[in-house]
Amino acid sequence: MPINKKDQLKEQIDKVLANKDKVLSGVYAKSLEQLVEDLKIYQYELEFQNDELRRIQNQLEKTVDEFEELFQEAPLGYIIMDENFQVIRFNENAKVNFIKELHYGKQNDFRKFIKVEDQDRFHLFCKRILKDYRRDEIELQLNAEDPLYVNITANVKKIDGKVFFRLALYDITRRKVTERLNRMQQQELSAITENMSEVIAVSDLNGNITYISPSCSLLGYQQEDFFDSTIFDHVHPEDINAVKESHARAFVTQKSDMVRFRYKVKSGEYIWVETSGSFIFNEEGEIARALFVMRDISHLIEHDRLTQEVELNKKNLQFKQKFLASLSHEIRTPLSGIIGIAELLEKTHLDDTQKDFVNTLVNSSENLREIIDQVLDFSKIEAGKVKLNKTVFSPESILNYAKETFGLICKKEIVFESVIDTPLPNSIFADQKRIMQVINNLLVNAIKFTEKGKITVSYSHEKSDDGKTLIVKIGVSDTGIGIDPKLQKHIFTPFSQVDEIDTEKYHGIGLGLTICREIVNLHGGEIGVISHPGNGSHFWFTFVAEVPESGSVYNSQKDNLQEKVLTHSLNILLAEDKPVTQKVVKLQLAAMGHHVTLAPDGKKVLELFKPNQFDLILMDIQMPEMDGITATKILRDLYNDLPPIIGLSANAFEGDKEKYMAQGLDDYLTKPFRSGDFKKLANKLFQ
Ligand code: ADP
Repeated sequence: MPINKKDQLKEQIDKVLANKDKVLSGVYAKSLEQLVEDLKIYQYELEFQNDELRRIQNQLEKTVDEFEELFQEAPLGYIIMDENFQVIRFNENAKVNFIKELHYGKQNDFRKFIKVEDQDRFHLFCKRILKDYRRDEIELQLNAEDPLYVNITANVKKIDGKVFFRLALYDITRRKVTERLNRMQQQELSAITENMSEVIAVSDLNGNITYISPSCSLLGYQQEDFFDSTIFDHVHPEDINAVKESHARAFVTQKSDMVRFRYKVKSGEYIWVETSGSFIFNEEGEIARALFVMRDISHLIEHDRLTQEVELNKKNLQFKQKFLASLSHEIRTPLSGIIGIAELLEKTHLDDTQKDFVNTLVNSSENLREIIDQVLDFSKIEAGKVKLNKTVFSPESILNYAKETFGLICKKEIVFESVIDTPLPNSIFADQKRIMQVINNLLVNAIKFTEKGKITVSYSHEKSDDGKTLIVKIGVSDTGIGIDPKLQKHIFTPFSQVDEIDTEKYHGIGLGLTICREIVNLHGGEIGVISHPGNGSHFWFTFVAEVPESGSVYNSQKDNLQEKVLTHSLNILLAEDKPVTQKVVKLQLAAMGHHVTLAPDGKKVLELFKPNQFDLILMDIQMPEMDGITATKILRDLYNDLPPIIGLSANAFEGDKEKYMAQGLDDYLTKPFRSGDFKKLANKLFQ
């Protein structure tokens, strides 16, 4: 057993005390002296050691103070917790900047200061560093009024068998918030760019694409399709130069223009796009990138194209209408001379050859008038200017009309038959004139293309469920030459004469059936044909007719009403500037027994007119000096009691009659007119 100095001295003292009698006797006096001497030395040593100890203690206390100061004032929050997560020590920073609730002498479970969603993660983190005994870090959010994110660096120490976690807390809120904002902006940006109808592309100065929005799917592409590509890659070869120029110009002028060009989409086809751009600058204020917004404008281009087309069609149609109107006007004027003279000639004494000539003249001029009427009618229909004029009439009248027309025009050995499949109603409400026009056309064709046999006109109808309307079906069949099936579908389109037939023999310009189809369509019906070459044709059409209310029962007598015939001669003031028409109309009227006074223009009319002197004024519309409408207006202003004023014009467009009548005329005759047309009008006026 080691014996130190203190023990040695103690042993010596004990020895001296045990022999104190002897000591006093002087046997040990010498050793006592020695002991005292040793004790003194020992005391000096002790005092020295004591001084040293005090010095060390002072130094230690200073270090501890310094350490404490460092600990408290450290820029990080320091927390020491035990293995049960209880906070044992913390510095000022930890309390001030991270966890205000920290107090000594209180149970402080560190976990409860962490956001619930991060607690499990922290638990696992502590377990892991406890297992590995190595420093690690974790980022989590602490409970606080404002968002508070921390980075915790932790390690573990074992002191006297107890485990302590040392945590250093560093505030990363600003970084986290910025990150979150960036993420949100990123998400927003991609949400916007994904759903936008434009494609955004960013390129460098050379046109290399550095970004393309997900909306490039609008062009059929995916973002990865643009890796390593330039903004010029899919541009139409014809537009590439314009696009490159605009791109280069934009970088120089720092202004980008709107460019339209064709762009190849993934499917391979080109669509029209429009791009506008802006710039992204670097820190030195120089252009670093160009940003393009590209949108599909195919629909706009298509719309523009269609609008232009519609405009052009409208212009064409207007031009056609004007052209036809003036053409018709120009032809009608000389034609009225031909028809009038031919008619007058017919009534003179002629030998057989002359009669034949005049007959041909009458037929040809009538044919010409029919053609002009058809062309005009077609253009009216094409322009959508035809309105149905519905009246109440008996369907029987249209069958009678067919029979009469047949009787009048058919000079061949053909039998006429009418077949009524459904009992005829008393009356229907439709445009009688137009329905008769269709029947007339079909009948004229049937006669034209049939040499012998039979022509049948049939009638049937179907009632609608409520009994208010009828779908009337009219058929016109013949035993003529028939039509080749291949050509049948074309005959209802304009100018569609079947080529094979002898056009010399069968006159016509192929508009009749087109007009029929339009009229029937206006009536809500259809038209069709069944035909076998050599075996005749069966044309049919339907139209919707209303059944008039029982109160408005049609008076069937009206159809048969005999018009009173004008028997006396009339004193007529004829205003007409063209010498041929003057001569012809004057002769026509004279031949009917009327007396004619001629006025070459409106001014002369005003001069010649005297009240009670004329029974009728025939007023040409277009005249030099003063036109017919102006003259009529002045006459109406000057006189209360005027004879009927009948307009006379070669303008035969739909609406012309109404237009002129609205300007003061009592009725209207279109040139050329036959004596019969005038007679009809005179009978109506003077019956
Ligand atoms: P067009 O006025 O010239 O007769 P349409 O439009 O009425 O013209 O008829 C067109 C063509 O259809 C005629 O030129 C003729 O070739 C043919 N066609 C019409 N009706 C008949 C028919 N009943 N028999 C044979 N061919 C017909």
